[in-house]
Amino acid sequence: MLGEGQDENASWGRGEDYYEYFIVDNDKEKLEYYEALGVILEYNGRKCVANPLVPDKCIAYTKRYEEDRFRFKPPAASPDFYSRCIRCGLCYFQCHYMGYNAIRLASLRDGLKAFGTPIIDDHIRHPCTLCMECTRVCPTGALERVLEEAKERARKKERKQGKETFDRTIIANYPDLVKKTRMGVALIDPDLCWAWNSGDCKSCAKACPFGAEVFDFLFTPWGVHTRVKAVVRDDGTIETKCVGCGLCVAACPVVGSAIHVLPEEEFVRRYRNFKNTGMSYEEYLKKILDVEDHDPFKAVLRAMEINNVFLLDIRGIKKEKIKTELAAERSLGESKTT
Ligand code: SF4
Ligand code: SF4
Ligand code: SF4
Repeated sequence: MLGEGQDENASWGRGEDYYEYFIVDNDKEKLEYYEALGVILEYNGRKCVANPLVPDKCIAYTKRYEEDRFRFKPPAASPDFYSRCIRCGLCYFQCHYMGYNAIRLASLRDGLKAFGTPIIDDHIRHPCTLCMECTRVCPTGALERVLEEAKERARKKERKQGKETFDRTIIANYPDLVKKTRMGVALIDPDLCWAWNSGDCKSCAKACPFGAEVFDFLFTPWGVHTRVKAVVRDDGTIETKCVGCGLCVAACPVVGSAIHVLPEEEFVRRYRNFKNTGMSYEEYLKKILDVEDHDPFKAVLRAMEINNVFLLDIRGIKKEKIKTELAAERSLGESKTT
């Protein structure tokens, strides 16, 4: 369900209850198995599996994208977007002309203020590719021409070196333009992510236009954990180069996606108290790493016995979507030998 309402910011949604539990009281086999492992808790009269990292709490998973979905303005929306946008629809037509279909025009159900303005809200099927064509055709500056600005700055710098850069990723070189471009920020749920549960997947990182500017990888004996580089400062600002295009959401092989783009205020809320555990997102990740380093029984329980069962039996994984360095190298090797 999309959140109702509207505000001055780029996006709006519900999000207060963004996770679901691993309920097993209708599955006798699983119930007995987890009872034997001593990880069953009572929650609202239901039996749920406990979180090995926080044993007195049920393990919580971010809901499927369809139930944790927000509405965003297109990239580089100006701070006075609603007064600048004349509802001409040119961005919408350009996005469809390019074949991306990321933009829809807001209906009355989206609220009077937004009515007729461009909205992006289907990252799974139609993420924004950051082609920035919508900003190029906007006649009023409601969408600002950040790519042109980045190119101009790069030209000035590189003219001296005798070369020019035209790639959209040059936006990442200019923190003020990254901020202007930003629609939201991506957050990975490490309990759902294949790469945080002994699997091998870098699909989100491979899909990201900014690659290593946004993602990093933690190499551990338990696998290569994929992470979006984003930190919430004490003043509530977010330090990241992620602009919230949603390409990673579409690429994730987990059904309903293990990575969701959130409005900045929602990202901060979840980051500071991840899944209501009382831990920040960063602390939660550190706890996983700590368990992997010092408590192999708990690490196996968490990844193999609980999260993988939820992932494979309940949520589902589209394995054909998993992209790894290994697969890429293998196909590179094959193409070289043919
Ligand atoms: S930048 Fe995104 S929203 Fe704008 S035209 Fe390209 S795909 Fe569509
Ligand atoms: S992390 Fe995801 S949302 Fe952020 S810039 Fe990369 S692909 Fe886009
Ligand atoms: S694509 Fe999904 S499962 Fe794969 S590393 Fe990224 S968040 Fe994890």
